[in-house]
Amino acid sequence: MSGLKLQLKTPNGISYEQPTGLFINGEFVKGKSGKTFEVIAPYNEEVIANISEAEPVDVDVAVDAAEEAFKTWGHCDTETRARVLFKLADLIEQKTELFAAVESWDNGKTIAMATGDVGLVVSTFRNYGGWATKITGDTIETDADHFTYTRREPVGVCGMVIPWNFPLLMLSWKIAPALACGCTMILKSAESTPLTALLFASLLNEAGVPKGVVNIISGYGPAGAALASHSRIHKIAFTGSTATGRKIMESAAKSNVKNITLELGGKSPNLFFDDCDFDKSVKLALAAIFYNSGEVCSAGSRVYIQEGIYDKFLAALKTEVEKLKVGSPFDKDNYYGAQTNKLQFDKVMDYIQKGVEEGAQLVTGGKRIGNKGYYITPTIFADVSHSHTIATEEIFGPVLAVFKFKTVDEAIALANSSEYGLGSGIHTESLDRAIYVAHRLRAGSVWVNTYNDFHPQVPFGGYGTSGIGRELGKEVLENFTETKAIRIAGILGGRL
Ligand code: NAD
Repeated sequence: MSGLKLQLKTPNGISYEQPTGLFINGEFVKGKSGKTFEVIAPYNEEVIANISEAEPVDVDVAVDAAEEAFKTWGHCDTETRARVLFKLADLIEQKTELFAAVESWDNGKTIAMATGDVGLVVSTFRNYGGWATKITGDTIETDADHFTYTRREPVGVCGMVIPWNFPLLMLSWKIAPALACGCTMILKSAESTPLTALLFASLLNEAGVPKGVVNIISGYGPAGAALASHSRIHKIAFTGSTATGRKIMESAAKSNVKNITLELGGKSPNLFFDDCDFDKSVKLALAAIFYNSGEVCSAGSRVYIQEGIYDKFLAALKTEVEKLKVGSPFDKDNYYGAQTNKLQFDKVMDYIQKGVEEGAQLVTGGKRIGNKGYYITPTIFADVSHSHTIATEEIFGPVLAVFKFKTVDEAIALANSSEYGLGSGIHTESLDRAIYVAHRLRAGSVWVNTYNDFHPQVPFGGYGTSGIGRELGKEVLENFTETKAIRIAGILGGRL
């Protein structure tokens, strides 16, 4: 065992080498301070590894590397970028089982969920491999003697800060489009889930990514803050809590007015109308909140049921949710696994307590499972009022708040009565109603008769305090490029 690599075996029996250093300028190095931190497995609370911790001084070194690399990567031919992205997709795909096992171990999500994540990661790299050769500017007709055109140039050195709920997927949403656009970057993973980002880093040289183009660091808030306030970083792409997003925005403004994208929290409404496909809708209501143990920014955490089906629907939710198995992420029968860390586990349990104290009706769940690992039973509250804390604040766990409504317009008003605006769901057999409601919801995504239905070609992001900008789709290319307008004067004066 060297200081920068560990021979490990995942709980489901895969032996592999886990890098533990910071990946800067094409190699794994120790942090300047020599400090390390523990990575805990949420499924059994045991230490998996000790990982090098980045501090602001390491961010400076990574910025130097990214700045140098930008001189070539920022101007290289687009097919080179495409090849690298396709190669990364292939390499990750070949190691799907390993990435999924390490993600489950580190994050607590089930193997099935983690395998699905890796599939989306591969698609994301392929999607932006395709885009790399198709980023174009315009020619603009003004007057006869000018030639005017625009170029989409890479924005430069980017800082990226990601959360712990989809560690590898959030990495791909940022790194893949930034590479396609010709940016160089420093990504900081979340302190509780650094392992798959480091495994990803170990593939970069083999994929042909020139040194310094992608730098991956592990560490806490101060390393992220150093990225946000760095005067030689031109863009910051952040996913995490709204509270941290506000700080990042402030630092970006105070430093060099850097370009920002913020993907923040949510309290997303999921609307069930009298005419919905009942059985399918019950399943979707549960999947929308309990998928990934509720640790999804767009989780359908507020369910609104029309009065005609309310009692029957609530009873069915209770029956069906009590059939869901929760436990070890490595047991294939389990619907969801452990909450990702102790802090988050405690936060969710506090919200459940608050729901009870404030008078919401606890229909089912609300308990810890076992005494090792951060497991919580799927929890449903009914008779929730908008004055209750659990109706307005993001819990980020397996806790559902259920409400009743009468009319379509009342449902829209209730759905929109949140400062957030990330996801939303509409369940109805009426196309007219679906379109009427979809066009009136203040949310970046509206899923009709489906939920949390992500696709790399479809933009994702929020209204209000859910953030600024969009990831995925072609929209994300705006985030990583600057538009330059070039206007060439015509040859006047008869010198033809
Ligand atoms: P968090 O904001 O505390 O942490 C997210 C990341 O920011 C971590 O890497 C952390 O180290 C870093 N960080 C912490 N303080 C920082 C600072 N001052 N400056 C720069 N970086 C800093 O969030 P969390 O509680 O760990 O993550 C859960 C939150 O993320 C939830 O609120 C959830 O809604 C949100 N989230 C949003 C999306 C989305 O797409 N909108 C996706 C996933 C998670």
